[in-house]
Amino acid sequence: MTTAVPPVSTRHHRVIIIGSGPAGLTAAIYAARANLEPLVIGGNVPMGQLMITSEVENYPGFPDGVQGPELMGMFRAQAERFGAVVIERDATRVDFSARPFGVWVGDDEYRADAVIVATGASALWLGLPSEEEFRGRGVSACATCDGFFFRGREIAVVGGGDTALEEAIFLTRFADKVTMLVRRDEFRGSRIMQERALAHPKIDVLWNREVVEVKGDMTVTSLGLRDTTTGEASELAVQGLFIAIGYKPNTDLFAAQLDIGEGGYLDIVGETGSRVEGVFIAGDVHDHHYRQAVTAAGDGCKAAIDAERWLASIGVTEQSTATSW
Ligand SMILES: Cc1cc2nc3c(=O)[nH]c(=O)nc-3n(C[C@H](O)[C@H](O)[C@H](O)COP(=O)(O)OP(=O)(O)OC[C@H]3O[C@@H](n4cnc5c(N)ncnc54)[C@H](O)[C@@H]3O)c2cc1C
Repeated sequence: MTTAVPPVSTRHHRVIIIGSGPAGLTAAIYAARANLEPLVIGGNVPMGQLMITSEVENYPGFPDGVQGPELMGMFRAQAERFGAVVIERDATRVDFSARPFGVWVGDDEYRADAVIVATGASALWLGLPSEEEFRGRGVSACATCDGFFFRGREIAVVGGGDTALEEAIFLTRFADKVTMLVRRDEFRGSRIMQERALAHPKIDVLWNREVVEVKGDMTVTSLGLRDTTTGEASELAVQGLFIAIGYKPNTDLFAAQLDIGEGGYLDIVGETGSRVEGVFIAGDVHDHHYRQAVTAAGDGCKAAIDAERWLASIGVTEQSTATSW
């Protein structure tokens, strides 16, 4: 569903939004309804992380749940209805050193009075073909999102850091048993979290263990494991596997232009601002704490309103800018 964009090499927009997940498309809805005619440079893999999940049960407004891709299709249709244009390509370079800001998609150059960065984050996966096969059918990277589906089940969590410890403890609310699979013979997470996990009656830890295969039929039934010290193979019967080995925020593009903080996430100034006036930030590219579609959408809304007010404050309104030059 690519929207055709006239083949001009330089176009000037009041607002360019980079990223088309819940944050970017919500920003697009708000900016478009403010007559700012936003251009969304939506990425080679558009519409964000929810495109790789099945049932979303916690997005408000859908009492029976909704499929991730269906929900994102609705976000996009709503943004396009008000005139947002979405390009399904990655932004490859940005220049925030002077206004109008520059955003490049290959050789195509775009200029904007304001930019909203909403490039999100990518969950890190083990990289096994069988893991990919069972994604959304027992394999997940989000305990908050999918834990509820594992009530009364036995599941495994891969990882040894704070995220893995937090997710394992959280998952004990639903699962009968949680086995943590740790590649080394110790955790990397904080001592308090380690103590909580080790003392938890529903949590078991298998040290020096890595997953080599996810097995199942329609859903996951067991994991093929390998001892990282002896190489010995074993099998663990579980109905779910949570990968908690970290996230990579998509911030490489902004190195040297914006402040990148702990874990590679973008630092914000105030609610949605950045160190560059006129460049706003929304969603998981900054937020390593909540990482939810609804919070990303909320951030997108705030960033668009902040961008609109900032543009008005510098005299850029819906009438004041030609759409190309
Ligand atoms: C398996 C899974 C299941 C989940 N389930 C739920 C759930 O049930 N409920 C819930 O609330 N949350 C869920 N989440 C979390 C939710 O998907 C995220 O919090 C949310 O998508 C973040 O939105 P975002 O817009 O900030 O970023 P993202 O969704 O990550 O979107 C960012 C977009 O920017 C694009 N992009 C990246 N770099 C560039 C570039 N250089 N140029 C242009 N575009 C670029 C990416 O391709 C992507 O399309 C789940 C996440 C995962 C991984």
